[in-house]
Amino acid sequence: LVSRKKKPDDTIVSIHGENIGDGKAHFIMGPCAVESYDQVKAVAQALKAQGLKLLRGGAFKPRTSPYDFQGLGLEGLKILKQAADEEGLAVVSEILNPYDMEAALDYVDVIQIGARNMQNFELLKVAGAVRKPVLLKRGLAATIEEFMYAAEYIHAQGNDQIILCERGIRTYEKATRNTLDISAVPILKKETHLPVVVDVTHSTGRKDLLLPATKAAIAIGADAVMAEVHPDPAVALSDSAQQMDIAQFNEYMEEAKAFASKI
Ligand code: PEP
Ligand code: MN
Repeated sequence: LVSRKKKPDDTIVSIHGENIGDGKAHFIMGPCAVESYDQVKAVAQALKAQGLKLLRGGAFKPRTSPYDFQGLGLEGLKILKQAADEEGLAVVSEILNPYDMEAALDYVDVIQIGARNMQNFELLKVAGAVRKPVLLKRGLAATIEEFMYAAEYIHAQGNDQIILCERGIRTYEKATRNTLDISAVPILKKETHLPVVVDVTHSTGRKDLLLPATKAAIAIGADAVMAEVHPDPAVALSDSAQQMDIAQFNEYMEEAKAFASKI
C-alpha cells in the first residue's frame, strides 16, 4: 500500500495548514523532552516568530538507561498542547505504549513512533487504527525495506497519513552519533508515495552539522527537516549536547530558509 506502484502521486500530509509532501521544505522543531511549561513556551514562541507550525517534544522518552529522565508522560503532553495552542502550533510527540494512545489523541496532532519501536508491530497496528498522522522513524539498524514494511503495518490498518523519518543508522563510524543515510531519502521517495523527513539532530548528534545536513536533506528531496531546540541546552534533561539554543535556532532557520528558497 505504501508503494509508489500502487499510488503514483505523492501523498500530502496536512497538519495545521502545513502540507508535508507539497514540494516545499517544512520544519519540525522543538525540545528533545518536555521539561516544564516555561521551557516549551519559550521554544513555541521562537517557532511562531519564525513562521513555523510544527512543535515537537517528547513526553514519553525512550531512554537507553532506565535511570535517565523518562519524561513527564501525560503531564508533558498537556504542557505541549497548552503552549502549542497559545502559539497556534501543532504538536508532534512520541507514543511508546499502545495503552497511552487513546489518551494522547486529545493532545497530539502527529503521533511519533520512535526508532526503537519501528518494529513494535502491536504499536504500529494501534497507530494504524488512529485517524491522525503518524511520523515513523527508521529503526536504529533497520534496512530501508524493513522501514517500508513498518510503514505498511500502519497503512494496512487504514491510516495512510504517514511521514517517514530518516534519523541515522548504526555503523562503525564514531564521528557522528549515527550515520545519516542521506540516500535513503530519494530511495524512499522513489519506492513509496509518502513524505520523507530528515532528523538532523539524532542522525548527526552534532550542532556543527545541523545546517550542512539540513542543506543536504533539502537538496536531495526531503519534504521536511526535524531538529531539537531548547532554551538552555546546558541544563537539558536529555540530549544536552546537541540541542540548539534559541539564538542558534534563529540563525539556523534564516540560513535553512534562504537555502530552501533557492531550491
Ligand atoms: C526523538 O525524536 O525524540 C527520539 C527519541 O528519536 P529516535 O527515536 O530517532 O532516537
Ligand atoms: Mn533527543
